[in-house]
Amino acid sequence: MASVTIADVEKVYADGTHAVKDLSIDVADGELLVLVGPSGCGKTTALRMVAGLEEISGGTISIGDQVINHLDPGERDIAMVFQSYALYPHMSIYDNIAFPLKLAKVPKAERDEKVRRISKVVGLDEHLGRKPRQLSGGQRQRVAMARAIVREPQAFLMDEPLSNLDAKLRVQMRAGIAELQRELGVTTLYVTHDQVEAMTLGDRVAVMRKGYLQQLAPPEEIYRRPANMFVASFTGSPPMNLMAGRLGDDGATLAVGDCELRLAESERRPQHARFAGRDVVVGIRPERTADAALGDGGGAAAAGRTLRGVVAVREALGSDVLVYFHLDGLRALPKATWAHANDVAPDEVEREVGEEELDRVAVVARLGA
Ligand code: ATP
Repeated sequence: MASVTIADVEKVYADGTHAVKDLSIDVADGELLVLVGPSGCGKTTALRMVAGLEEISGGTISIGDQVINHLDPGERDIAMVFQSYALYPHMSIYDNIAFPLKLAKVPKAERDEKVRRISKVVGLDEHLGRKPRQLSGGQRQRVAMARAIVREPQAFLMDEPLSNLDAKLRVQMRAGIAELQRELGVTTLYVTHDQVEAMTLGDRVAVMRKGYLQQLAPPEEIYRRPANMFVASFTGSPPMNLMAGRLGDDGATLAVGDCELRLAESERRPQHARFAGRDVVVGIRPERTADAALGDGGGAAAAGRTLRGVVAVREALGSDVLVYFHLDGLRALPKATWAHANDVAPDEVEREVGEEELDRVAVVARLGA
């Protein structure tokens, strides 16, 4: 196994589309790094450049110490799993998994040993005689992974491998992939548009938008310390509440609508000092508002930590209840805030959030049922 290094990589397609801009990501040896972002952000393009399926317009991609920019896909010692597993329907599971080894002219005994070992790891050793159509979607997925991994590539690339599965199987397979990846210790770059998949699978998560990397960090950090408003609103379900507010002169109170929130010591940051006395965007995760939002005016709601508003909708989810409410006196975020805070790069001040999102003044709280 080896590390994969993407350094200052650019991709400009023949028609002038600048799909990937100055991208730098290092995937450590044995790491599972998830590349996530909305449709069109350039994540698939980035993956295809690593695979050698797309030419690189600038920068370098290396595996270990070797720059691979000009190597053909077959010379890169990388395996890739796509959305469609592309198994050979007429071949047995055994032959499907053995196929890459056969191509590589690996001797029969060694081939057999490897196929049996990997089949055990992916839990398919009892189905080796079957044909793909006799397997479930999840099992087929595992055959595809086994086939990709059997020749022990330096790195493993996955492009939305779960997107064809139903919701339940997807959750199952997600756990299966994470387990398998850790067991095999194979360096993996995984692309998805699904933030839940990204957050649950990744050792680290790289969030992209419009060709630019927004943040690269472990999932907890992406969630707790999003680098900008885009990352904040992209992660979490429902996403973070983003509200117009004002930081007090002392840097310790936040005015949000008609409410004043006292910041706890742990919520204060040195970098907030320069925003003292200024308009800011306040972000509160729904699950962090729970107590304050439905405070009974007494016990539960701590002094200076209460948001007051009128409940608009309640959604019971079983384990949780989502409460949407209009916060007294809350203003919509000025459009310019979105434009600048989400500014992906200095040359790209552009707004793409929907109008209704800008005018959204309902806040959502997530409460235990
Ligand atoms: P999705 O999740 O929808 O697959 P993505 O984040 O993977 O999206 P890419 O497929 O990498 O995005 O596309 C990034 C940008 O490059 C998009 O604007 C897309 O339209 C454009 N693009 C992709 N392939 C080509 C191509 N062959 N020629 C021109 N533009 C392309």
